[in-house]
Amino acid sequence: MGRITKEQVSSAYQVSKEVFKGNLDRKKGILILSEKHRLNKNSAKDFVNCFKCMMEGRIFYRAMSHTAMDHFIGNIAEGFSSEYLKNALNALEKHINYWEEHYKTRAISMREVLYKYRNDNPAFTTAESLQLQFEKDVSKSIHLSSTERLRNIGRSNTKPEQLTVISKVYMRNPHVVAERLSIAAGICERCKAKAPFIRAKDGTPYLEVHHKQQLSDDGLDILENTIALCPNCHRELHFGKSD
Ligand SMILES: [Zn+2]
Ligand SMILES: [Zn+2]
Repeated sequence: MGRITKEQVSSAYQVSKEVFKGNLDRKKGILILSEKHRLNKNSAKDFVNCFKCMMEGRIFYRAMSHTAMDHFIGNIAEGFSSEYLKNALNALEKHINYWEEHYKTRAISMREVLYKYRNDNPAFTTAESLQLQFEKDVSKSIHLSSTERLRNIGRSNTKPEQLTVISKVYMRNPHVVAERLSIAAGICERCKAKAPFIRAKDGTPYLEVHHKQQLSDDGLDILENTIALCPNCHRELHFGKSD
């Protein structure tokens, strides 16, 4: 849809609403948007159609910007009953799924809009679920041909989007870590190899302290539940086939 101003988005919403309510003829509404508000005629049509689909909970294919979508949904949330908001969010979700599947991309900003208003699903924006989703996306991409991948890369943003997420962290006991490192004395307790390098910041051998039963799996933060590992062993324990 090209660059569209806030004023145009706001007018597009008002007109779409009046058309949907039957207070304004569709053709006339589109004319108002294109002549009075200098919106491209196709964009005007898209807004009106999109709004109708949203109110009816049906998928729409043409995309508006995420800021325009935010404006539309925000106003639907304020001006209509919750049934309509639910419809609009369902329509948006269908649209996002279609978009992501069709363009092999993540519609991150659009999803932010979706989850902003649908607060029953904040889980998407945890760092963990984002990471999981990312790994799934990489796995999917690996199955594409190089040609398809390069085409997708060509279509993608070169500047990565930024997202603020909530994250659950476990506050580890520094004494447990330090004691485990002291016991290991620079040797990986799994493969018995020497630490691969010396830490620049304090000259100690670089090993990582791993919890055998992970803290997220109710593991205890005690010496007996830890093991000092070289980075290879550590990655293998987390990502390799379990041994
Ligand atoms: Zn090792
Ligand atoms: Zn670990």
